[in-house]
Amino acid sequence: MRVPIIAGNWKMNKTPSEARRLAAEMREELERIAGVEKVLCPPFIDIPAVAEVVQGTSIAIGAQNLFPAPSGAYTGEISPVMLKELCQFVILGHSERRAYFHEDDSFINRKVLAALEHGLTPIVCVGENLEQNRAGKTEEVVSGQVRGVFNGLSREQMLRVVIAYEPVWAIGTGLAATAADADRVIGQVIRPVLSDLFGEDVAQAVRVQYGGSMNAANSRELLERENVDGGLIGGASLKANEFVEIVRIAAAVKGCKG
Ligand code: PEP
Repeated sequence: MRVPIIAGNWKMNKTPSEARRLAAEMREELERIAGVEKVLCPPFIDIPAVAEVVQGTSIAIGAQNLFPAPSGAYTGEISPVMLKELCQFVILGHSERRAYFHEDDSFINRKVLAALEHGLTPIVCVGENLEQNRAGKTEEVVSGQVRGVFNGLSREQMLRVVIAYEPVWAIGTGLAATAADADRVIGQVIRPVLSDLFGEDVAQAVRVQYGGSMNAANSRELLERENVDGGLIGGASLKANEFVEIVRIAAAVKGCKG
């Protein structure tokens, strides 16, 4: 059974003191919810403050990026070895990094391998943009991304990965994909490609989140779909009540399967 997973991507928001307050606001409520993996992904500089707040709880910490080398002359970058002391997860291949920092599938693939090598769980984002969606290219784009970013992984490594299906046109727009469309892309595109690459047992075991304007109001419908194993939440993860409510809904819909 796939344990549901809800992750909050705080993006470039919150100073360390604000991050500490937001994490503290959520901590007790999140801690009361069982059967769902809960992950907070603050900016790098906020990670120590948030890690301190959630220490000793079931709440995990994720980073939003890494550089695929253990250490060295890479000014401004953060390595998986550095993250490993405070984080369990790392978001990789987010569409904002693909768009603004020109990350392509082969670079993301190096990051995925580096995360796995150092014991971090990558949350790897894939998804088509509006133009590709309108041109009927969703299947081609998403399957190409899955093949690219997971190139060279062993079956054992793939089992440790979390995928986030995030249609780019749905991110930060208030316009989420329909539950039927999210379920279809995950169930009929992503899992079949995983099956082809790693075998059907792996395809059925890997957790795939939906991301893109997911909130407390629309999460139930999305999470009720069989192929949607959780959510990667941007804007709504910055509001303590809203994020906690999404986690609660995930527990109600899926928790018993965890
Ligand atoms: C995201 O950044 O991964 C995301 C899904 O953002 P939002 O929920 O704001 O659309």
